[in-house]
Amino acid sequence: MKKVLKRIILALIVMLVLAQIPFIYRRIQTGRLAHTLSTEQKAAQPKPPRSDGFDEYKGVIHVHTSLGGHSTGGFDELTAAAAANDLDFVVMTEHVSTAYDTAALTLNGFHGKTLFVGGNEGDTADGDRMLVVPGGGDVAGLHMLPTKTAFEKTHADNRLVFVAYPESYKTWDADFDGAEVFSVATNSRNINPFVLLFDLIWSFPSYPELTTASYFKRPDANLQKFDEVAANRHISLLAGICAHSNIGYSLFSDDVGNKPIGFKIDPYEMVFRLVRLHLVAKKGEPLTRERLVDTFKKGNFYNGFDVIGDSSGFSFTVKDGDVTKTMGDEVTLSPQTKLTASAPLPARFVVFKNGEKFFEQTDSTEIFVNVSERAAYRIEAYRDALGSPFDKMPWIISNPIYVR
Ligand SMILES: [Zn+2]
Ligand SMILES: [Zn+2]
Repeated sequence: MKKVLKRIILALIVMLVLAQIPFIYRRIQTGRLAHTLSTEQKAAQPKPPRSDGFDEYKGVIHVHTSLGGHSTGGFDELTAAAAANDLDFVVMTEHVSTAYDTAALTLNGFHGKTLFVGGNEGDTADGDRMLVVPGGGDVAGLHMLPTKTAFEKTHADNRLVFVAYPESYKTWDADFDGAEVFSVATNSRNINPFVLLFDLIWSFPSYPELTTASYFKRPDANLQKFDEVAANRHISLLAGICAHSNIGYSLFSDDVGNKPIGFKIDPYEMVFRLVRLHLVAKKGEPLTRERLVDTFKKGNFYNGFDVIGDSSGFSFTVKDGDVTKTMGDEVTLSPQTKLTASAPLPARFVVFKNGEKFFEQTDSTEIFVNVSERAAYRIEAYRDALGSPFDKMPWIISNPIYVR
């Protein structure tokens, strides 16, 4: 009997060891990718100023602190992470409270070079969830209203409202300003816990960002929903992070917050490196709170998954007479209407026309596309050369140019 037990234990140990092989292989692959990206970064020339007539500002949206509950992040960690990532802006989306105004209490204004804008994440009586920018004490009350009424009130109060968690959102005919088609948090929730456990042991400690990014999946269904709405009216497309800085593990921690042994898998500094919004705004005007909110409304920006390559400098424009217009803008169709796009690294450009694949060009840094039909045109750029999953998960997702 003892012999059998020994054998069973031995077999289990062998199986456990063998089960590590794919995860060790993943660590090697992730290490190779990290090496490729760091070599590329070292070889990169200093970025030339944008030649399309716009200034660029990079930042993130959908960030929580401990103010609204279930996040453990604090202001010090947040401002340090924004500075370390050289961010121009951070849009806060604190959970609401019926007792106090979390959007006013969170970071607002400049801290270092980073402009913070206090917004909220909230929900409606229909169970739809949204981001409200800027936020306010009355956003908590929207929980009592049907979605359409809640969004009307939000607009009457001069705030923007973006659909959050589109996968469970229902009221698509409501009047909103945009949709968060990608969320780092939502994406992470779909990871197989078994895979995650062993990746946390093998790959994560050395390559936290790239291990996280290796789980990224193109949000097909959310993009399709976005395209259906954008075919009929102007909305903004955004990729958020839903940063809470609260997933981790610690031993011997005390109530004061000391954690002698432990680690966090989602510190702000790490998640701020994953995906950023790059605003393109008229040259020479400083970034202010009003301007930031206005740019979000206009959709003058693209979403760059900078974890797999700095997307700064990406450009997507069209001439409207003598005027150069960019993502989020509307342009009148003419026989000369031609879309122009360029990326700072070679990529596969895919142009979508009202959600249908319309044009594709591989291994390019620049494309020119003539258009002869009125539609919403947006671009996804892929870095196929980096291998799976980045041949299917975009590096850049632009906002549409609306040809009317
Ligand atoms: Zn939350
Ligand atoms: Zn959130």
